[in-house]
Amino acid sequence: MALKQFSTIMTKWQMHALKNNASLTKSFSKCMSSSAASKSFNVGFIGLGNMGSRMANNLIKKGHKINAFDVAPSACKEAESKGCTIYGSPEAVAQKSDFVITMLPNNDIVYDTYDEMVKNGVNSNTMFIDSSTIDPNVAKKVQQLVKSKGASFVDAPVSGGVMGAENATLTFMVGGTKAEYDTVKGLLEGMGRRITHCGDYGMGQAAKICNNMMLGISMIGVCETMNLAIRLGLDPKTFNDIINSSTGQCWSSTINNPVPGLSENAPANNDYRGGFSTALITKDLGLASGVATASNSPIPMGAIAHQIYRTLTCRGLGNKDFSYVYEFLKNEQSQN
Ligand code: NAD
Repeated sequence: MALKQFSTIMTKWQMHALKNNASLTKSFSKCMSSSAASKSFNVGFIGLGNMGSRMANNLIKKGHKINAFDVAPSACKEAESKGCTIYGSPEAVAQKSDFVITMLPNNDIVYDTYDEMVKNGVNSNTMFIDSSTIDPNVAKKVQQLVKSKGASFVDAPVSGGVMGAENATLTFMVGGTKAEYDTVKGLLEGMGRRITHCGDYGMGQAAKICNNMMLGISMIGVCETMNLAIRLGLDPKTFNDIINSSTGQCWSSTINNPVPGLSENAPANNDYRGGFSTALITKDLGLASGVATASNSPIPMGAIAHQIYRTLTCRGLGNKDFSYVYEFLKNEQSQN
């Protein structure tokens, strides 16, 4: 079925379902979701960095046509070599796409990109998906902006890092209506293994920020524990094997251990390059701090972790993987 014809039928289905009852809405969403899993779509992709480039590649492997944009010419060139069609603006991408996915650095860039994308109107069938990590309140504002132009939006941030993006094993946390979740699920399954509906708009971001606060804290816990154990004379591998079969075990001790040579593909083995940058975890803990203040929630460990990562960033180490905290602590020696 030609895509245009397919989306016309979808629109009719959607209107019919909305006019009638919830069970029809459910049927529409199921139909769209299974279609998104098996059909080929025009998918816009904006932000082709460490995460976005890999996510777009996985959609190409699933047979989708990718219309892409990034402000960095090198990112565009690389994406073009992998089969993406490059456009000159986010607006041009949106005009050509059934779904648009954004994977951008921060609140302001995400909001401005959507503002530019929809300012002259959009096709009401287009479904916009933001997978960047941003403030839940900004996600809600973007949803209002897109809705005011007649189209749909969900926030769908991810966890799983660059390796998860590469291997299409990301976890997606979706904020939106159940029907919108059902609409995007099939497409997201082309890039991830677990797609969870977290609630209304902004709830995907709320889940992501809370997860990353936990991650930021636990990484520092592993860094200072490994440093102490090694200073006490324990063999790093022996001690790490103990943690990983004991109650201290976590992602930072198993998959992304901060001590070089302990986790097979960890950035620590590559001078802390690649992976999840200290600048990004600093940003995420700043977001956690903002929502914690707004909701009057005490986050003592999150706040300390934020300041530790911020200190590293201020020292010019923002581009290192966040496990670099281990090296930072290791270099703290007594002068006595
Ligand atoms: P990145 O810096 O590697 O990529 C961001 C891309 O956006 C770059 O290619 C940049 O040129 C592009 N860009 C910047 N401004 C733009 C604009 N106005 N228009 C179009 N493109 C623009 O970052 P990343 O690691 O890919 O992370 C992207 C998002 O995903 C962030 O919000 C981050 O917090 C989140 N995230 C990252 C990871 C990770 O492990 N790296 C994991 C989960 C979530």
